[in-house]
Amino acid sequence: MTRSVAMIAHDQKKAELCEWLITNQAHFKDRRIVATGTTGKLLSGHLPDLDIHPLKSGPLGGDQQVGAMIAEGLLDALFFFQDPMTSQPHDSDIKALVRLATVYDVPIACNPSTANYIISSPYFANPELAPQADEISEQYRDYLQRNISL
Ligand code: PGA
Repeated sequence: MTRSVAMIAHDQKKAELCEWLITNQAHFKDRRIVATGTTGKLLSGHLPDLDIHPLKSGPLGGDQQVGAMIAEGLLDALFFFQDPMTSQPHDSDIKALVRLATVYDVPIACNPSTANYIISSPYFANPELAPQADEISEQYRDYLQRNISL
């Protein structure tokens, strides 16, 4: 399956992510973009020429769909603009998603400055240079082969 980048924004950050993507859309013209449902609808409404695929809404499973893509090695980067001032009902899903991105060494941008760094990187233009999921799994070989005694 084609690799993607993912876009997610909490409600108070959706406008910021949309404006950031409008400004930087040239970096995404050949990329497949997945996004949590509400974020995805907003982005595709403003950027009809980009290849944007909305998933389920984040609190209804969209964050976990993105997490599953990370575990399958299908995600190059995660742009996740988070609202630090509002508690989220799906906090456990957010933590799970950020944890999986950490496990699989997937870059995460939680704000526009980090997003700018990511799109400026040669790894973003050439994702094949970045660590691949099977290389990452190798780092966990000792864990996977640990002894479980009965
Ligand atoms: P949404 O989800 O794009 O469906 O609002 C965002 C989130 O997961 O916080």
